[in-house]
Order: sequence, then C-alpha cells, then structure tokens
Amino acid sequence: MPDRVFTPVSLGPLRLAHRIMMGSMHLNREDDPQALAAFYRERAAGGAALIVTGGAAVSRTGAGGPNYLLINEPEAAAVLSPTLEAVHGAGGKIALQLFHAGRYAFESSYGLRPAAPSEVYSGFSRAVPAAMTQQQIEAVLADFAAGAAQAQSLGFDAVEIMGSEGYLINQFASPLTNLRTDGWGGDPQRRQSFPLAVLAAVRGAVGPAYPVIYRTSGADFVAGSSTLEESRALAVALAAAGADALNIGIGWHESRVPSVQALVPHGHWMGIAGSIRAALAGAGVQVPVIGSNRINSLHLAEQALSAGQADVVSMARPFLADPEIVAKTRRGQAELVNTCIACNEACIDRSLGTEAVSCLVNPRAGRELAFPLVRSVSAPDLRVAVVGAGPAGLQAAATLAQAGVPVDLYEESDGIGGQFRLAGTVPGKEDFLQTIRYFRNELPRLGVRIRPCESPGAEALSGYAHVILATGVRPRPVPLPRTGRLPVRDYREAFAAPADLGRRVVVIGAGGIAVDLARLLTGTPGGPADVTLLRRGHRIGEGIGPSTRWAVLQELAAAGVRTLPGTTPLEVTPEGLLVATAQETVLLPADTVLLAAGQVPHNPLHSALLHQRIPCTVIGGALDASGLNAVRAFDQGLETGSLL
Ligand code: SF4
Repeated sequence: MPDRVFTPVSLGPLRLAHRIMMGSMHLNREDDPQALAAFYRERAAGGAALIVTGGAAVSRTGAGGPNYLLINEPEAAAVLSPTLEAVHGAGGKIALQLFHAGRYAFESSYGLRPAAPSEVYSGFSRAVPAAMTQQQIEAVLADFAAGAAQAQSLGFDAVEIMGSEGYLINQFASPLTNLRTDGWGGDPQRRQSFPLAVLAAVRGAVGPAYPVIYRTSGADFVAGSSTLEESRALAVALAAAGADALNIGIGWHESRVPSVQALVPHGHWMGIAGSIRAALAGAGVQVPVIGSNRINSLHLAEQALSAGQADVVSMARPFLADPEIVAKTRRGQAELVNTCIACNEACIDRSLGTEAVSCLVNPRAGRELAFPLVRSVSAPDLRVAVVGAGPAGLQAAATLAQAGVPVDLYEESDGIGGQFRLAGTVPGKEDFLQTIRYFRNELPRLGVRIRPCESPGAEALSGYAHVILATGVRPRPVPLPRTGRLPVRDYREAFAAPADLGRRVVVIGAGGIAVDLARLLTGTPGGPADVTLLRRGHRIGEGIGPSTRWAVLQELAAAGVRTLPGTTPLEVTPEGLLVATAQETVLLPADTVLLAAGQVPHNPLHSALLHQRIPCTVIGGALDASGLNAVRAFDQGLETGSLL
C-alpha cells in the first residue's frame, strides 16, 4: 500500500484527501454535457483527489479546436453544470482549466486568425499568428479574469491556469515566440510579465481565498526557447505572486524530445518537477509542486513523492485506462488495475484532432452512458464461447462476463494476449504486458473460464448460445522467388528468437510491427547489428499514431536502423535480398530475411459454424486485418459483448 500517496495535502485553501489528481485532457466530447458528466463521474467515484477539466478556452480565438469548452460563452453553465453535479455527487473535487492556445489555435475552428505575442510560424498549427496589440493583451487578461470568475460562480473547487505545453502564456515566456520589445518582452524579466499578469487578473477576479493552480512549463524542449533556469525563475515568481500550487508541464507540441510516449522511461521527467520544488525551497516560497508524465501506477507515484520530486502526482491517461486506479490500489487490488500503456492511440492522438477521445485498453472511456457497467441481458444463463484471447476476444469476454453472462474463452496458445505478447517484448513497450496481467486477473474474477491450449472445432462449439470468433491474424505471406537456403522468417518467429537471426537482417515491411521488430532486434544483446527496413510505399512507420511515430523513427535512426522506402523486394538469394529501387537493382546482404509486411485475417471456424447454423460473430483481426488496429479490436470486443 503506497503510504505517502494516501496522506492529505493542501493546495492553498483546497484540501485534498490524498496526492493523486487527474490531470487535464481535452476529450473532444465537450459538446455532449451528459457524456462529459458521466465520464468525470466515474473518475471522481474511482477516487481521484481532484479532477482538472480539459482546457476551457477563455475566448474563441484561444480555443484549441472546434470542440473546446468556452468558459465565457452563455452556454458554459449548461455545458458544465451536469459535470459539476456529477463530480460533487460522487464526492469528488474538480478544477476548471483556463486555456488560451495562442499560436497553437487553428483558424479553421472559428475562422479567427490565431493571436500570439509575435508573428512566429507554428509548425503545430501550420500558421503565422497575428501579434497581439496592447489592447488585445488587455482583453485576453480580462478574458482570463472573467473565466475564473465564471468557474468560481458555477461551483468549481479551483481553477488551473494553463501556462505550459507551448500555449499562449508559455509563448509569452519564451524568447523563441516572444520577440516583443515592449513591456511584455525583450528580456527574461519582461517575458515573465504576461504569465504574472494572467495570475494577477485571475487572483483579482476570484479573491485571495479561492484556489488557483498554475500549470507552468518545467522544460520547453524546443531549441531557442526558455532555458531551464528561466523556467525555474518563472516558477519561483509565480509562487511568490500567489499561485496556490504549481503543476509542472514538460515539452511543447513542437518538441522533438519525447515526453509522453511509451519509450520514455517511467517517471523520467519527474526530476524536472523536483528541481523546481528545490528552487522554490531555495527561494523560500514553497508551494505544492505537482509532477506528471509517464507515471501510470500509484507505486510509481509513491516513488516520486518519497524522492521529494513532487507533493502531488497528476495522471491523465491512467484515469482513462482505469477510472478506479486509486480506489483499486487503496483496496489492495493493484493487480486489477487496467494500466495505461502510453500508446496514445485513442487519447492524445485524437485530442490533437477532432475525434472523440477514448482509451485503447478501456474503450468505454468517454462512452460510459452508451455502455453502462450494469445492464440486463435477455438470457444470462446461456453460455457464450469466445475463441481467441487477443485484444478483441479479451474485451468481448470481459464485457459479457460483466453483464453476468457465462463465458468460456478459448485460446490455442499457452497464454492470453495475442499480439500484445509480442509488443510487450519490445524495449519501451513492456507496459503492454500489464494489459495481459490485468485480463489474467480480471477475467477469472468476472467468472470467465480461460481455456488455454484449446482449439475447439465446430462440433465442440455447438452447445453454445453464441460464438464470438476473435481468432486474430497471421503474417501476410510475401511470395518471392528463392535461390539457395537463406533463412526467411515471419515476424512471429523473429519475435520468438531475436538473437538467432545472424548479424545482418533485412525486414520486408515498415509498418508498426516492422518498426517494433527493428527496435526489439537492435535492443537484443547478441542480436543483429545491421538492420534494414524496406517497403514499397514511401512512409516508414505507417499506421503509428502522430504523437508517437516521430519519436520511434528518431529512435530507429539513433540505433542505426537503415530505412528504405520506395523499395520492392525481388528475390531471396544465398547472399541476401535482391531489391529494386526507382534507380537500380541492388543486393542487400543478409543472414536472414524477415517478413513483416502486414497481416491477413485468421478465421478458420467461420464457415463451419455457419454450415452448422451456430450463431456467431467475427471480430477483431479475424474480421479485418488492415492496419492491425488494436483500438478497433478492443472497440469491437466491447460493442459485440454489449450487443449479446
Ligand atoms: Fe493510455 Fe493508450 Fe489508453 Fe491513451 S489510449 S489512456 S495512452 S492506454
């Protein structure tokens, strides 16, 4: 039981029962007040000490997209009241995050040109913002003040000012994006003016007794931006100016230093929060410091708190993966926590666009109303068989069992998890094994009978009321002429024995699995020293989400992996793989050629079941192997399990 986590803490006047809060995440569900309320209700009931909403823009110009909350619009009360009622009804506390995107806003949201300190092109929004006039700056300060007053009058327990991640306030603090020479820019001192003015405006609006949290950047990680010393100095100034707590952000959207991806080691950036905490202590202006990023368990949070790196730990994604992460851990059931695997596929990648945010390993997230935990099924005593214990089958079995349906889960191999078992062997993706650990514990608790090493035929399945076929995929064959006996292996064989492939490996394919395989091979002691990925198409890492792709490609390059887009395999020879590029035909010397060029559905039972008129549904990769989409597989497991 983490001890320090479960000690109370005060953020100024805001008393928290323990030290785990749910951090802000834009959900793209802010246009549905009831769905939003249901989402936050479960997180409050699940034990978050404090929830911070997604960014609530203080003006349309400052919105991060078309679905952002707009705190100063007339509809704000109607949108937010259900959430307030739900969270408070569940015994929780909630803060509203006051937000202005600055040059990270999109003109397409409301037809308004983004506004920022200076006209500095943003690679994130792909626009040059307008430099704000003095009058506009004063108007934005008034917008922050009005938003804070509105939050207070609606009944929020606190506000959080969003001053990090490269948004407007952070842009004013940075020499990269603030080129002004007036009182709002010019030297480090004057670049503090706007962040401090926002705090003063908000404080002036809500009074001294209302909690104001300030999210400030601990490290921008963009060349030419604020130094770590400047970030620390700003944090000290904010604390001295009356912020009740500092929540430390890491990196900008334009950063090319990974901060939230799975390949970032757990707790890696907590040292930045720790250095700010030390700077505050040194300056004698200590306020609670909130740390975040790559903490996905209360065990890790405990370590950070015990090491003095923070007073409170903020997690956002782990509350999507499991709204009960705090309650389960507190009950001594950490083994039943559905752990966030930092894939970003259904959350951050979507929050950067307009698709509604959810969670890969918890597809109910954001859809709590559509998929209630408690439901009645028409014939609960009828047993269902799920064949295949990959993501789709696991989720289908859990969903059915949650509703009280007896389920037998068949798996031909000796363990559950499907291709998650492969992913979990990749350096930096070990958390994928946590998903398997979760289902291994959760399914028996729900009454599912897991039957490993069993491949039932149609006869054996005839007694079930329904059969869900989730038999997954097989590697797509790549028919190539061969001369000689050079080994050719598919990706499953390579994952099973990465050290047995020789020193030179050529991988046909460069999608997500091929990239994972390359990372495994280059990280395997005694594994191949020379790894090449090739594909006919031109995009290496196709299918990997936008928040992760650049980071893993960066890592492949650092590991010396050669990537050859626009390359067609022709023939396996005794010396290697003969390939054609647009210019020439060349031999790539290899000890082994690996096939990781996609998958095909593996669905051996369907026709037999149809023939015998056994009701069945095909889901996951067995239905559609394109892109090997785990989000889609979990979704289909939930939806199919809910329909029966
Ligand atoms: Fe975590 Fe992935 Fe779920 Fe996002 S989608 S909350 S990163 S498991």
